[in-house]
Amino acid sequence: MLFGRNKKNPIKIADKEVVKWTYSTCGYCSTGCSIEVGTDANGKPVSSRGVGGADVNRGKLCVKGIFEHELFESSGRGNNPLIREDISQGYRETDWDSAMDHMASEISRIQETYGRDSFAVVSTGQLMTEEFYTLGKLTRGVIGTNNYDGNTTLCMASAVSGYKRSFGSDGPPGCYEDLEQTDCLIAWGSNLPEQHPIIYWRIKEAREHRDFPLIVVDPRVTMLAQQADMHLAITPGTDVVLQNALIHVILDEGLEDREYINANTVGFEQLEMEVAKYDPVTASKICGIDEDTIRNVARIYAKAGAASSIWTMGINQSTHGSDGVVGVNNLNLVTGNIGKPGGTSLSITGQCNAMGTREWSSCSGLPGYRALENPDDRAEIGEFWNVDPEFFPKKRGLAQTDIFPAIELGEIKGLWLVATNPMTSMPNTARIRKTLEKLDFLVVQDSYADVETTQYAHLYLPAATWAEKEGVFTNTERRVNITRQVTQPHGNSKSDLAIFNELSKRFKQAEKVKFPEKPAQVFEEMTHLSKGRLVDISGMSHDLIEENRGIQWPYTSDDAATGEPIKAGGKRLYTEPGTFRYADGMAKLIPLPFIDNNEVPDDRFPFWLNTGRLVEHFHTRTKTGKVGNNNKYSPIPFMELNPDAADELGIRSQEYVRLVSKRGDAIVMAQLTHRVPKNMIFVPFHFHDCVNRLTLGLLDPHSRQPAYKQSSVRLEKLEDQKAAAVMSMERREF
Ligand code: SF4
Repeated sequence: MLFGRNKKNPIKIADKEVVKWTYSTCGYCSTGCSIEVGTDANGKPVSSRGVGGADVNRGKLCVKGIFEHELFESSGRGNNPLIREDISQGYRETDWDSAMDHMASEISRIQETYGRDSFAVVSTGQLMTEEFYTLGKLTRGVIGTNNYDGNTTLCMASAVSGYKRSFGSDGPPGCYEDLEQTDCLIAWGSNLPEQHPIIYWRIKEAREHRDFPLIVVDPRVTMLAQQADMHLAITPGTDVVLQNALIHVILDEGLEDREYINANTVGFEQLEMEVAKYDPVTASKICGIDEDTIRNVARIYAKAGAASSIWTMGINQSTHGSDGVVGVNNLNLVTGNIGKPGGTSLSITGQCNAMGTREWSSCSGLPGYRALENPDDRAEIGEFWNVDPEFFPKKRGLAQTDIFPAIELGEIKGLWLVATNPMTSMPNTARIRKTLEKLDFLVVQDSYADVETTQYAHLYLPAATWAEKEGVFTNTERRVNITRQVTQPHGNSKSDLAIFNELSKRFKQAEKVKFPEKPAQVFEEMTHLSKGRLVDISGMSHDLIEENRGIQWPYTSDDAATGEPIKAGGKRLYTEPGTFRYADGMAKLIPLPFIDNNEVPDDRFPFWLNTGRLVEHFHTRTKTGKVGNNNKYSPIPFMELNPDAADELGIRSQEYVRLVSKRGDAIVMAQLTHRVPKNMIFVPFHFHDCVNRLTLGLLDPHSRQPAYKQSSVRLEKLEDQKAAAVMSMERREF
């Protein structure tokens, strides 16, 4: 018996006195868990719980979702619009009308002086889909700049690009059920237990009932790698080499699915010629996976009744990100693993509504997966919005990662950032800081006034967050799910939809364009535009979505009319032969020559720098850094360092260490662990003025997504540990 045990106070869980539960969808990651928020007799959100009848999460939530109700009144929320003429001055509060008038007049001034595209807009994956659609209408149809993109370029652009190149369209072809029904699962650079815990839980449960092989490809011994049957600790940035080698073995041993290939693909001969160069011996020297393992994995995957591949940032955030996605698709196409239960290529998306922005925001095109390059698409949207199609650009403008260099060149003078925080999220922080300082006019629209990028803004607009408003998200498996309004917007903040609508009224071009006020009205407009498209949601309504705890697209008005169970709806794409989105209905097998253009360790910078997520935090900690129960797990930046490397450098556990790259430096605490090899460190990307001071961020040529995970650094031991601790927490200026 423990000494004094009876004297201790027992732990008591306070009764939250919930009087009402409101249905919602989690606003963090793209798993898309159904959540209910409990409010007390005063209408105050006091509790969160998972929804038992929801297919995605079946009652469960992760550590972020379970505390999500604490967001509404967390510190740093914006109350009123803030304005200043110059960033050397302090902000002063202003009213909404003045803020909107000022913003519209600055946009007009900049566009009239420097041209329409000199004003840029960078959005997010955090808004409701109805808000994305409205922002797209405002930006494409009213303001008329072509330099409009989402921060999803930092996380999902390679997946979008890869899907388009292979299948002729964006749109993940599979669903979570495939990951339960598969006979073999490869996870490429995806650490589900920390990134998408509920998807991990579903796979774990499935494997408890039916033990299928789990193969993890990751340079680091992640939590998922610890659960795997095989862990392939690949050399960073060489996934394409491994993919080519796997296909080489499959073709060499006659394990491909010829019938599927003939009925569904073009380009087999060109692919065969390219992968012939990647025999397992040659490939092993580049990708670091031994030849026998390559052969074994190829055989297991090809011989499985159904095999699936998932991936996250380990593939996407690379100079070969788009190629890596095409490589996964190549592998699945030659083995006949697209569009069948248990056989899929599924990109596990990042933000709660990264899919919504891909489908409806018009960032890289026009709504409903329409293309600016297609005259019919421009004409259709022009007619629907009452905008002259000639007003639309005829090809896509700059991606987010190209907008910042264009500011450096003086081509872009004004920028509107919506719920995104490039001062923490973009590679090479010092360069981004100098870039933002060059702007004539920067607007930051965010739920938090203390988001780091507001330090460089001329106008701050306080936005409502998550369930302070209403609308839908689309999750990783194309499931559209609804967030109902739980509480009123904080302070004088407004929903992003209301802000877009207010701003539209200040432009003459908007006189003939309708901007519906209510999210349900906007959604209805989208259902009309979706009819007959791949992303057909014409059978959905807000109420039907809630009733079914989310509906996967496509779900057509004809589907709705049949009254068939919705669960049978849009589980998978490309289930029938020859239904890919190219004109001939065939998917493309694309040869992928490997070019080694990464920054690699050398004598001066001998460590690989790898970056990634922690389960308790979300993106730049704008939200989770304010929720005590999340932040207390990881309140400060740290790095994972191999104990043998630490020993050689004389670094002890929990010592502060200076990391130096060619771009800058950062001070972090060392955590000694064998999760990283001796020549690699891992630093979470959530912290401001930390790892992105170091990253290079070379861009993928197809997707323009930065390579965050392939930089090199050196470690410097610090004698004065107290000073280092202070410096690691201070926001420093170069
Ligand atoms: Fe929210 Fe993702 Fe956690 Fe589900 S897994 S509760 S969607 S953060």
